[in-house]
Amino acid sequence: MQQGRDIRRVGDGLNEKCGVVGVSLGEREAARPLYYSLYALQHRGQESAGIVTHDGFQQHSHVEMGLVGDVFDEDSLSTLRGTAGIGHVRYPTAGGVNSCCAQPFAVSFKSGSLGLAHNGNLVNADEIRSELEDLGHAFTSNGDTEVIAHDLARNLLEADLVRAVKRTMERIHGSYALTISHDDTVLGVRDPEGNRPLCIGKLDDGYVIASESAAIDTLDGELVRDVRPGELVVLENDGSGFDSYQLVDKENAAHCFFEHVYFSRPDSVIDGTLVYEVRRNLGRALWEESGVETDVVMPVPDSGRAFATGYAEAAGETTADGEQRAEDDDGVEFAEGLMKNRYVGRTFIMPTQDERERAVRLKLNPIRSTVEGKTVTLIDDSIVRGTTSTQLVQLLRDAGAEEVHMRIGAPPIVAPCYMGIDMHTREELIAADRSVAEVRDEIGADSLGYLSIDSIADCLQKSQADLCLGCVTGEYPYDIDGETTDRDVTRPAIGAEAPADD
Ligand code: 5GP
Ligand code: MG
Repeated sequence: MQQGRDIRRVGDGLNEKCGVVGVSLGEREAARPLYYSLYALQHRGQESAGIVTHDGFQQHSHVEMGLVGDVFDEDSLSTLRGTAGIGHVRYPTAGGVNSCCAQPFAVSFKSGSLGLAHNGNLVNADEIRSELEDLGHAFTSNGDTEVIAHDLARNLLEADLVRAVKRTMERIHGSYALTISHDDTVLGVRDPEGNRPLCIGKLDDGYVIASESAAIDTLDGELVRDVRPGELVVLENDGSGFDSYQLVDKENAAHCFFEHVYFSRPDSVIDGTLVYEVRRNLGRALWEESGVETDVVMPVPDSGRAFATGYAEAAGETTADGEQRAEDDDGVEFAEGLMKNRYVGRTFIMPTQDERERAVRLKLNPIRSTVEGKTVTLIDDSIVRGTTSTQLVQLLRDAGAEEVHMRIGAPPIVAPCYMGIDMHTREELIAADRSVAEVRDEIGADSLGYLSIDSIADCLQKSQADLCLGCVTGEYPYDIDGETTDRDVTRPAIGAEAPADD
């Protein structure tokens, strides 16, 4: 296995974990519902935001760097005419600003206008790009979303919408949840592995497709169901319904488990399970697997909160040895020992280690009285580089904690994510080449416990064969250069290698 490979070489490596939405309404303008949806999906991306609408004659677009609330105002929303459209929030990548890659990607082709919003990351975008460049396509960005748009546009010259999407799906390899506007028709597509979430919602006067059901809730809509892996959903222009086309059928899915652990909102229902419930159950399993009796249990806000709730709840029922608790034994006290400054964001993606450390200190401050003289268990969802846990363990010791134990609601992250989470190289992952005991020493904790992969699958109520576990096993559901796969997959042959068209 190659060590320290840089993800940026895969698919030209724009590493995109984003939020997407598409709306088609009967008569109402789509801009405002799209705007509210993007607000609901802001946690999925804070670098840029954009909306593309179509009024039946013309496409309108407003895409800028910044948070949803800053990017749009009354003026920009009023220029986004039409009852159909799509929207996007983009996850920030390390090293800063990439205005070329802000989305939705909007363009006019011979066959009409296209808008494309993408969550995920292709692993074969380079091959398709160079093939299309040879055919005369000019690219304006180095992102993989534009590759999908050009490929689709080319296929639309020869085939109807559904067949064109199918052809493109047979060529692109990797992770994608897409909302697409083709003139005033809105579509949603999920890759055959269902790696990134995408769901369908019903509104009083139309339909919505969104990364997470929390966006549908925000519009007072009703979750209909998830878009199935390999499915294309086409919304009716008049908002009356949608058509479904199962374009690719695979035996197994590869849902990203990290969506449930960290990325999605706890109030979203993803692939049939409420994220909050999953996190609480993961917390319970964490107690059962590696509980430690301490005076207090406290979450790392906000990402560790649901885990800590479940952990403390289970700790109230059984002892760390798995015995039923005695009546007079209250178990472990749950306390908020760290206060979060809401106005600091994005510590994870700060470019330098020094800045990341400073940012953790800006973001979290201990409440001395809940910590002083006590043994403490700190619960977080994940350890990636180890910056947060190293800082927090020291912070709690400085605040007078007698012991600091760390419990983590995910397995050790040992390998990069090529599917869109901002974890690029093995070098930066603290657990990539360390045992659990070594990570414990590195972060300075008295003890450290991670959750097993078995518990992840149990709590998600999925078979391991239907999950993407690449970052915790180093084996991927896609065919990625220099990495091993966990299933029978082949990258589509592109260009000269490809078989003739049907
Ligand atoms: P570390 O400090 O170990 O590098 O990262 C772990 C912390 O970052 C945890 O508190 C976790 O909630 C958070 N985290 C994990 N993955 C991501 C991610 O993809 N983006 C951001 N912004 N935070 C993350
Ligand atoms: Mg966190």
